[in-house]
Amino acid sequence: MNAPPAAQLRLLDLQALDATLDRLAHRRRALPEAAALEVLAGRLATTHDEVVRAETDVSDLTGEQDRIETDVQVVRTRMARDQERLDTGQVGNPRELENLQSEVVSLRRRQGDLEDKELEVMERREESEHRLATLRARHAELLAEEADLRSRRDQAFAGIDAEASAAAAERTPVRAEVPADLLALYDRIRASSGGVGAAALQHGRCEGCRLSLSPVALNAIRAAAPDAVLRCEECSRILVRVPDSGL
Ligand SMILES: [Zn+2]
Repeated sequence: MNAPPAAQLRLLDLQALDATLDRLAHRRRALPEAAALEVLAGRLATTHDEVVRAETDVSDLTGEQDRIETDVQVVRTRMARDQERLDTGQVGNPRELENLQSEVVSLRRRQGDLEDKELEVMERREESEHRLATLRARHAELLAEEADLRSRRDQAFAGIDAEASAAAAERTPVRAEVPADLLALYDRIRASSGGVGAAALQHGRCEGCRLSLSPVALNAIRAAAPDAVLRCEECSRILVRVPDSGL
């Protein structure tokens, strides 16, 4: 393959721009803010579940407390009525009087039990409410952290994207200056050789694999036509002669 020396030199410019674009794409993928956001999304989901569970606890305990209060009210009303019948002497029958008195005693005991139970439920509800408030605050903190990370990530993306569009804009005219067959060879080698398709021959060394060429290879290069497209004997990359190639 042959290509004008100037076109071969442009290939090195193209390689530099492609390397910049690869580096930017890698930086975009490996952005620490993006990884941190993924971790945070997991923590937010967990905290959200905990908030929902605590809300359910509070709501269940509130319902339980309401039910107990209703029961207490029923007992109080019944006791007041019994007491009134006793106080006003409405009950003349001794048997009935005894029954009524024993009912008042049992109602009083029932009221005491219900009030103890209510106190216990109230304490549990307060604990749940406290836990819910703590979890809600934690969730809000995580949301703020997420918004901050998101904005930092987007800022980093914008910076990377601006650099990438500048490099891409520069790359288009450079590619146009390289002959199609050389470009195809470059693209093929680049794809199979870690993103480096063309390298300068500098001081007798291939800048692609960083190995020095043998004297025999250097002599062959000295004898080659200026427009011959050379390949590194070690890494097979396109080897481009530059002013300080050491020939
Ligand atoms: Zn090489």
